[in-house]
Amino acid sequence: MSPHPRHRRMLTLTVRAAERVSPHFMSVTLGGADVQHLERSGYDQSGRLFFADPGNDEVVLPTGGRWMLQHTLRSGRRRPRVRSYSIRRFRPEASAFDLEISLHEEDGPPAPGTAWALAARPGETVAFLDEGYGYQPSTGARWQLLVGDESALPAILAILERSAGTLPAEVFLEVPAVEDIRHDVVTLPGTTVNWLPRQGDTKTPAKPGSLALEAVKSARLPEGPFYAWTAGEASLATGVRRHLVGERGVPRSDVSFRGYWRYGRAAL
Ligand SMILES: Cc1cc2nc3c(=O)[nH]c(=O)nc-3n(C[C@H](O)[C@H](O)[C@H](O)COP(=O)(O)OP(=O)(O)OC[C@H]3O[C@@H](n4cnc5c(N)ncnc54)[C@H](O)[C@@H]3O)c2cc1C
Repeated sequence: MSPHPRHRRMLTLTVRAAERVSPHFMSVTLGGADVQHLERSGYDQSGRLFFADPGNDEVVLPTGGRWMLQHTLRSGRRRPRVRSYSIRRFRPEASAFDLEISLHEEDGPPAPGTAWALAARPGETVAFLDEGYGYQPSTGARWQLLVGDESALPAILAILERSAGTLPAEVFLEVPAVEDIRHDVVTLPGTTVNWLPRQGDTKTPAKPGSLALEAVKSARLPEGPFYAWTAGEASLATGVRRHLVGERGVPRSDVSFRGYWRYGRAAL
């Protein structure tokens, strides 16, 4: 599903701003001269972010394309954390772009991505490597179905903004809490955004993604050929695809899907 970027390099960037958007989201702006080397591609473009745990100043960030080798050779506190995030918004006038990081709570120490986003301060250095995109609407689609959990919120909002004027959308977006619902989403006529907050729904199953999957299964979808894009917890993405192909007869080639994370398992 993911066309790799044609040209890419490891970008060295600094945190420009970090702001709490809602109880479970931080927006982090990254910028610097290296942004000029980031080629804008698909609407759900993402990259690998390399960062240090808060308080660890021994980390050595990767500088070249052979990051995996560098990563393997570094050990202990010198090895950076690596997590994937979508580019929520480009800010070309400021040589910057925004990420939005969902904050989640575990028993025990906070997950690295959550801890980093909460502690991010202007001036901190990170590295970022473009990983391409997956959004490729099928020719002939008259509308699009976008389904995700909170990890896919940045990509879905970017897709909605960047595809405005082309394809109306039916969106199913699961978020942790009612307060995480965005009220400033501008949509095309014909687009419907179904927000699915987990908290506040007493019937909600514990596992993230289940609410969105059930909502899609029981939805009355618009008529006509469509393109589907789904991402989030792995069972959500694969479950939506299986449902569309198996029960609604959607051609496999009209469905892009990607597990962004796996329940109970840390990235890398
Ligand atoms: C292409 C791509 C684009 C992505 N874009 C974004 C994005 O824009 N914003 C974003 O927030 N995430 C995004 N993700 C998902 C993100 O990379 C993962 O959620 C990652 O695991 C977060 O790292 P962590 O350190 O917070 O948790 P980890 O250390 O990886 O995991 C620790 C524990 O938390 C659980 N966990 C991991 N992620 C979540 C979550 N989102 N909600 C609840 N529990 C979780 C794990 O199952 C594990 O039990 C993207 C992933 C991919 C592959």
